Amino acid sequence: MALVGVLALQGSFNEHIAALKRLGVKGVEIRKPEQLQNVASLIIPGGESTTMAKLAEHYNLLPALREFVKMGRPVWGTCAGLIFLANKVTGQKTGGQELIGGLDCTVHRNFFGSQIQSFEAELSVPELASKEGGPETFRGVFIRAPAILEAGPEVQVLADYPVPSNQLLGSDSSVEDQKVSVETESKVIVAVRQGNMLATAFHPELTTDSRWHSYFLKMANDIGEEATSSLVPVEVNLSYYQQPRNDLPVFQ
Ligand code: GLN
Repeated sequence: MALVGVLALQGSFNEHIAALKRLGVKGVEIRKPEQLQNVASLIIPGGESTTMAKLAEHYNLLPALREFVKMGRPVWGTCAGLIFLANKVTGQKTGGQELIGGLDCTVHRNFFGSQIQSFEAELSVPELASKEGGPETFRGVFIRAPAILEAGPEVQVLADYPVPSNQLLGSDSSVEDQKVSVETESKVIVAVRQGNMLATAFHPELTTDSRWHSYFLKMANDIGEEATSSLVPVEVNLSYYQQPRNDLPVFQ
């Protein structure tokens, strides 16, 4: 039976499973390559992407994860998960890190700074609001978050975030690129969709606003998988969660 998988090597996988449960959907922890065969879609949580990549390598998960993406199965990466899905990453630790790839984006790790520069911001989310209803904004929780600096033509931008131009100076490696950034950019991208892939630089699983999870589940359904018909319902009192709530603390 197909289910929603949540990569459970490290990071906020429990919080994603709790968010799915609030929508009446069962999430399954994925730690071994063969477990991917039992799920129709996959969430890759936030955490620490270098550590996650090392663990994925250790458990021989990388080929199966890459195959999962290539097969067009719906995948959503949040924060470190976004980094892991990107085709190109800057700001990596020395020696780089393995990536799953597939998302035609250049992602800068720790774009907004170190842990103490973590922040929350109301993001404008017109596409999310048009599909899921609720407010036109979503409270983004950015924890040592990455940002998308470049996105390919197939990539649909779902949310961006304004940054001072000089912050973009440090983000590109070549001086030429830096000049272009200063002249043309005053925003970085923080949520995208590309076909079967969804990616957010922030942590929707740490809020009680379930719209990104709901959006992903519908997206998985639209992609035509047997996902929704075989989702395993769990006992849940939906009335509490029906109205999006942006107040914090939020993880329940
Ligand atoms: N900066 C982290 C990394 O490089 C991601 C942080 C997060 O997932 N909250 O993996």
